[in-house]
Amino acid sequence: MDGKVIFIEGGVVPGDVVDVRLSKNKKDWAEGKAQLFHTYSPQRVEPFCEHFGLCGGCKWQMLPYEKQAEYKQQQVEDHLRRIGHLEFPDMYPILGASKTRRYRNKLEFTFSNKAYLTDDEIRAAGEEWPKRNALGFHIPRLFDKVLDIRTCHLQEEPANLIKNTVREWAEKHSLSFYDIRRQEGWLRNLVLRICTTGEVMVNLVIHYEDKAARIALLDHLLATVPGITTLLYTINPKKNDSIFDLEPKVYAGKGYVEEKLEDFTFKIGPKSFFQTNTYQGEVLYKVTRDFAGLTGSEVVYDLYCGTGSIGIFVSRQAKKVIGIELIREAIDDAKENAAANAVNNATFFAGDVIDICDDAFFAEHGAPDVIITDPPRAGMHEKLTAKLLEVAAPRIVYVSCNPATQARDLALLNEKYTIEKIQPVDMFPHTHHIENVVLLKRRY
Ligand code: SAH
Repeated sequence: MDGKVIFIEGGVVPGDVVDVRLSKNKKDWAEGKAQLFHTYSPQRVEPFCEHFGLCGGCKWQMLPYEKQAEYKQQQVEDHLRRIGHLEFPDMYPILGASKTRRYRNKLEFTFSNKAYLTDDEIRAAGEEWPKRNALGFHIPRLFDKVLDIRTCHLQEEPANLIKNTVREWAEKHSLSFYDIRRQEGWLRNLVLRICTTGEVMVNLVIHYEDKAARIALLDHLLATVPGITTLLYTINPKKNDSIFDLEPKVYAGKGYVEEKLEDFTFKIGPKSFFQTNTYQGEVLYKVTRDFAGLTGSEVVYDLYCGTGSIGIFVSRQAKKVIGIELIREAIDDAKENAAANAVNNATFFAGDVIDICDDAFFAEHGAPDVIITDPPRAGMHEKLTAKLLEVAAPRIVYVSCNPATQARDLALLNEKYTIEKIQPVDMFPHTHHIENVVLLKRRY
């Protein structure tokens, strides 16, 4: 408004006319929430999901996909200018997803005895308090409330069939849904992996062992839903939902699934990390490999390498690849993935990038020709950007899932590097998330 930026919560889109109540009002910017809609933007379309408005999932459905892509492109550009104060060449147009629904290979549903109820549902129930079990997603900012999801459009079938089969069986047999406040109840989480290879992995997380109930439920699921290639269960007696430190047990099948990127195969266990959108993951990695400009003679460092997928993806065009990642289990997977794909020129190291990337390490493994870096949302630690400036590789390819922290880091790297290419990639249609790949060249 009059040149002042106002960040507005409450599902508004450009073109809406709304009253906004400001919660913060600074000199250059303000923050607020939409209170009343006077007119709706002509850009709006009808959301396709019955859970729109409550679910934290696909919050941008009210915009046509082309508009979503346009605003994401704009957001990357704004961040580079306003946060990074950077100069850069024209950005490439965003690579939108060809598949805008059912694009996720992984979903995690939560069981709760505290279903989120709308005001209407509470009113309609009258005297009698409505049924409160749910199997679905957490409501943003309400830690103990879960929205019961009937049909989710984020994952291929049989995702909904599996979820609804488990829910019906649980209700019919009065199995208890977890109560997060009291920390009681049996059923906790249902984690599904549905791969482009057609493999399907289900991991049912329960609070404690109840052998008879567990076997009955898992057998019923296998008998009812065709196509489950591996079924696991995990007992989680802890307060938190993380299964990272637990031991999933195989009930049926081989205990893992396989996913493909080009002709590389990746083994994904119940605790493995893998890009959640396989289709766009491949697009992202192709851009990364293309930006790296490899000819076969380069020493490539793959920082924040996860399970080594980027490093493996570029390995045929590189002399050697050195991958670094904090989580030891991910590094174990990376080594296994490299071996399974007959990649012999990649080595992987577990540890914090700022501890591992010292002079001795670079001396031992070779001066980098290309550094690929793919940090988490927080971006790179300042110590790492300082180190990258010192090491001064000719090229850096910065893959980011958060263009705001990327812009901040690029401003630091600007001391020695110019931005050559910028390619946003949309991995998560109908959400505000955006990935961005930037190629940096050393100035001198
Ligand atoms: N490049 C991978 C994963 C990127 S996600 C892929 O494309 O699949 C970012 C990764 O950085 C995560 O695996 C996380 O465990 C790791 N990570 C976070 N902080 C780190 C640190 N300080 N040092 C090393 N790795 C870190």
